[in-house]
Amino acid sequence: MRNPMVQPLKACLVMALALIVMSASAENPPMPPERPAAFRLRAGMPAATPSPSASALVPEKGYCLAMLARLGIEAAPAVQDPNARPQCQIREPVRLSSIRSKARGGGLIRLPDNPLLACAFASAFGEWIGSTAAPLLEARLGSPLAEIRTGPGYDCRTINRSASGKTSAHATGEAIDMDRFTLADGRVFLVGTAGEAADALAAMRRSGCGWFTTVLGPGADPAHASHIHVDVMRHGKSGSYRICQ
Ligand SMILES: [Zn+2]
Repeated sequence: MRNPMVQPLKACLVMALALIVMSASAENPPMPPERPAAFRLRAGMPAATPSPSASALVPEKGYCLAMLARLGIEAAPAVQDPNARPQCQIREPVRLSSIRSKARGGGLIRLPDNPLLACAFASAFGEWIGSTAAPLLEARLGSPLAEIRTGPGYDCRTINRSASGKTSAHATGEAIDMDRFTLADGRVFLVGTAGEAADALAAMRRSGCGWFTTVLGPGADPAHASHIHVDVMRHGKSGSYRICQ
């Protein structure tokens, strides 16, 4: 014979279990994995435990250099010229010396000119070279990229050195020029010269248009006949369009 109390008892037990589970969930709701502090700061989100030196919008001192190191970009802190004009100030100046290639052949890409750059720009340049430009050149030319000649990077001047004109992105360390590429097998390619690397360098140059706001090179104008220039200058009133020539 069925006990008439069994069904209500079962219902009570089920409800009690549900309440226990719900209260446990409320106290310990499922949380996404903890993000590194660097990501929280970059996304403009407050850190879980704010440190005295960090705010939601200002990255901690040394954050950019630490980010470069994590990306395989070798750089050292540099000193801003104390006499530089106000329009020629570099935000967090660094000197680049090498970039680790993410191509199959891997290896370090030397930057013997040790360009002086703003740290954030150095990060964009290093990431583009390491993850896109070097693998592309290696795939097209059959040997890892070993060296890029860049010139000094920072240069307090106007665009194309015109007597009166807009300040160049070089003046804030947010531009760089490349005129000579050396592969691990010893082959050397100069920008603007015909030869086996011309197509590969043109493809590399086009890939830069996805990373920078300005990409110029041979054919764009006489000032860029023998080097590729990339920068992150904002163009136009909205600052939203890009120059890719
Ligand atoms: Zn330039």
